[in-house]
Formats: sequence, structure tokens, C-alpha cells
Amino acid sequence: MSALPEPQIAPTSVRSKPDGSLSRRTFAIISHPDAGKTTLTEKLLLAGGAINMAGAVKVRGENRRARSDWMEIEQSRGISVTSSVMTFEREGITFNLLDTPGHSDFSEDTYRTLTAVDSAIMVVDVAKGIESQTRKLFEICRLRDIPIITFVNKVDREGRDPFEILDELEAGLALSVSPQVWPVGMGSDFQGCFDLETNEFLHSRPRAAGSFNSVTQFNGPDDPALHAVLPEHVAAKFAGEVELAQAGYSAFDAEAYRQGHLTPVVFGSALRDFSVDQLLKIVARFAPPPRPQPSDKGAVDPLTQSVSAFVFKVQANMDPNHRDRVAFVRFCSGHFKRGMKLNHVRSGKPLAVNNPIYFFAQERALTEEAFAGDVIGIPNHGTLRVGDTLTEGETFRFTGLPSFAPEVMRRVRLEDTMKMKQLRRALEDLAEEGLVQVFKPTIGSQWIVGVVGPLQLDVLASRVRNEYKTDITFEPVPYATARWISADEERFVKTFMQENMMSCAMDRDERPVFLPKNDWELRYARERNPGLTFAETREIV
Ligand code: GDP
Repeated sequence: MSALPEPQIAPTSVRSKPDGSLSRRTFAIISHPDAGKTTLTEKLLLAGGAINMAGAVKVRGENRRARSDWMEIEQSRGISVTSSVMTFEREGITFNLLDTPGHSDFSEDTYRTLTAVDSAIMVVDVAKGIESQTRKLFEICRLRDIPIITFVNKVDREGRDPFEILDELEAGLALSVSPQVWPVGMGSDFQGCFDLETNEFLHSRPRAAGSFNSVTQFNGPDDPALHAVLPEHVAAKFAGEVELAQAGYSAFDAEAYRQGHLTPVVFGSALRDFSVDQLLKIVARFAPPPRPQPSDKGAVDPLTQSVSAFVFKVQANMDPNHRDRVAFVRFCSGHFKRGMKLNHVRSGKPLAVNNPIYFFAQERALTEEAFAGDVIGIPNHGTLRVGDTLTEGETFRFTGLPSFAPEVMRRVRLEDTMKMKQLRRALEDLAEEGLVQVFKPTIGSQWIVGVVGPLQLDVLASRVRNEYKTDITFEPVPYATARWISADEERFVKTFMQENMMSCAMDRDERPVFLPKNDWELRYARERNPGLTFAETREIV
């Protein structure tokens, strides 16, 4: 029996069915760099019929000749700087897979992307277990009650004992684990994977070490017919392991999973396609459809009739042929139709959405409609910012999109002072995208930029050079970070700013910011000014 349906070329009918939000699965993959996220993404798209050969994501990417330098940075450093969305449909379910950049320097972008998903797949390398970035991203998911399916990858290679991995997940993340697909042998003994729910053995024919291409149905993990096809020592080990696994860990409980207390665990190999189909089936069957989204006027139910959505990402330069910016919008309720006029809550102005686009692997196309859970791109010239809410007329705002205090601060030095205007424009644009934060000091005329990780500075300089034809360098500043200042009474803020002119600035929305030199100075300011709040994050408005 063939495991995968014949891969198809992009069906143009994706999302055309008016089946509402319940059939949406909007999810992200979280992992530490190198665990196999890109490979798994490709295989999921393949399993979903979104691409017709593995590697197409990369191949198409490389075919884009005119990619700018920051894409080159991404390629040369082997990291994924951009986030994007990939939509595909299988068996009546529309999957919206939101890509998150894996490198920690871009975690701010990742945090925001995670505000737009309803569930996540956590990829863990079987040889390495939980790594630092996995843990960080997991904690964000937990904060937001995002349920997680775990994919333990690379079981075709020598790795750690499956029990060791399960115990690490259980103890390290304080989660119940429920193994769903188990590896049959590992490394040089690797024979395939066994689906504990369906009793299907995923293997490869004719070479045991090749890619998965065959499924055989057995009566159970102890079926003598299964053991007959396995090398004796592998069969014996497998039988013992499965017995222990089934006795020692939780049975699958869909409710516990959706509440974030339990993670189903799938052992597999993204590279060789083992267990990818099983993973997708678990997402389709159990991952939650769109969940209520928090707003300043209470949670918005996805089944509410009127349309609502928020912008979680703005990206420029998606395609050299389209110089505009694209705002990535997650729908939270209602049935959106192309051409609708939505209320742009921040400005109070109507916004006619005539060219909504959806993303199919690396392609883009116009879409006629969207439901809660869907993510579309709206091309615009700067009207839409990260954190913006769109409604059918109501004035509430979605909440929970944080802007983080930067950890690296630099003064921007302009090589050619005639280019001041271009620089201002560039910083405004790139701050709007969320790449950097920009501060204008109370004293002095040079901009200060703040980033969460230093790699963002390379990307910034590279993009300013390429897209705005302006060369910049960075100089150190004595400031360690930034804190947003607020108080019940405006005059307290004013007084503080006057007394600390050398260490104050305005952010791009003219909000007052304190730039302390170190922790001590921040503590001192807090002690001296009990009426002021120095916030580490602020909600984007
Ligand atoms: P990412 O950084 O998480 O996106 O990881 P990639 O998908 O780029 O994978 C990192 C490396 O691991 C690449 O060399 C992949 O070919 C390899 N890899 C990914 N999945 C598997 C797997 O299942 N088995 C083996 N042996 N290698 C894998």
C-alpha cells in the first residue's frame, strides 16, 4: 500500500470552499536551528500536495535571482530570517503553516508569529533532545496556552534512547507525553516507524535504509508477522520498548492536549519522510480550530459573524517584482470577502481590501475570501503596522502583541550626510516592519537603534544599503536597553525627562523612553520615582 497520495501540482481551488473556520488548522513549527524544521516543512507541504517534489521550497527560493542582500545573509549564515505563511489543503482541512525564524536574534518576530497560531509542532533532534531555543519557544507557547505536538526527528540516525527523550520532555517541560509513532530500531538498525494507533508499519522497500515508501498493516506491535520481517535483535528490542512505552506513559487524551497538558509524540525522520503523514493526520484530527482571540473588549469568538483580524507581521521586499510591503493578517472571526471595506481601528479610516493575497508554498495569488484562522497578505504602502486591528466597524483592538525592550543599542552613523532624508525613511520603514526599534534622543541628532540580537544590525545595514542606497555604520552608545516610561499623571513623566535629558528619548510613536546605562541605573531610577512605570515591553498600538 502506498503511504502518500500521489503528490499533486498546486490545486488552484485551495481555500475556495466556503466551509468556514472550523476546518482551519493554523500552526507553526518551533525548533532549535538544525533540528529539521525546513526539511519537515517541505515534507508537510509535499504530504499536503502543495508542492510536487521535496526540495521545491528551496529550489524555488534559489530561483529567485533578484533576492536582495539580506536574503543572502540568510542563506550564507544558514538561518531563516523571514517568516512567511504556507497554505495547503488536504481532505477538507485548510492548513495554514506559519514559518518562524529559528535564529534567536529574530525571536521578536517569532513571538509575534506565535500570537497568530492556534497550535504548534515542536521539532526535537533525537540526538540532542531539548535545546535552548526549543525551550524558549516552548515557554512562549505555554504562556499562550498553545497546544503542542512533538516530532522527534532524525531517528534514521544514531540518537538517544527514545525513553530518555520522552523522560526529558516530561520532566523538562512538565508535560505528559503520549507516544503515537515509535521508531523501529535506530541508526544502522533503523527499519522504519510503527504507528501505535493504527498498527501500521512505515518502512521502505526495497532498501531498509532508503526513504519511506511503504505501509504494511499489522495486528499490533507484537504481531508475529511484523517480527518476521525485522532482524531478530531489532524485533526483540522493539517488542520490549513498546510494552514499556504503553505502560509507562499517558494514553492520548485530546482534551489534555488541547489544554496544553499533554503532548502527543511522533518519532520520525523528516529527511526520509517517515511519520510525516502521521503527523499531519494528528494536526488535522486533533489540533484546535481557531481559538478566541483576546481583545481590549474581551475575547473575540471565531464564530462571531462580523469580520475581525490583526496584523502580526509586515514584510517588505517579498518579491522583487512587487516593491510594496505586505502586511500579514490573521483573521479571527467572520467571513471575509475580497473588496470588503474594513475599519482600520488605529486610524479610524476605512480600508478597502481589494488585493488580498494568500501564499501557496512560495507562490502568491489573489484570494476571494477568508475565514477565522486564515492568514492573508495585504499589500500596502505603510498604512498597516504590526499590531493593527481590522474590523467590520467595531472599535476594539486585539491585544497581546508585544514589542520587546532591545538588548543591543547602537547609534547610527551616516556615511554621507546628504542622505539624511533617505535614512529617516529607511528607519521608519524598517521599524514599522519590526526589524529594529528606533529612538530619537532628547539631546543630539543621531538616531539610536535597538535590536534584540546583533545579527539584526547586519540585516539593517544591508537593507538600508540595498533598498535605500544609503551606507550606515554603527557606533557604541553607553545605553544598555530601553524602558517605556509612563505614569498616572503626565507631568511626572515630563519632570523625569527634564531631569534625565541625557538618558531619555522618544520612540517612533513619540512615546517617552528611558535609556539606562546599566541595571543599577534602572533600579535607582525606579527607587527615586515610585510614581513612574518603566516597562520592559509595551503592547504595540
Ligand atoms: P532547520 O535549521 O531546523 O530548518 O533544519 P534543516 O531542515 O535545514 O535540517 C538540518 C540538517 O539536518 C540538514 O542537513 C538536513 O538534511 C538534516 N536532517 C533533517 N531531517 C533529517 C532526518 O530526518 N534525518 C537525517 N539524517 N538528517 C536530517
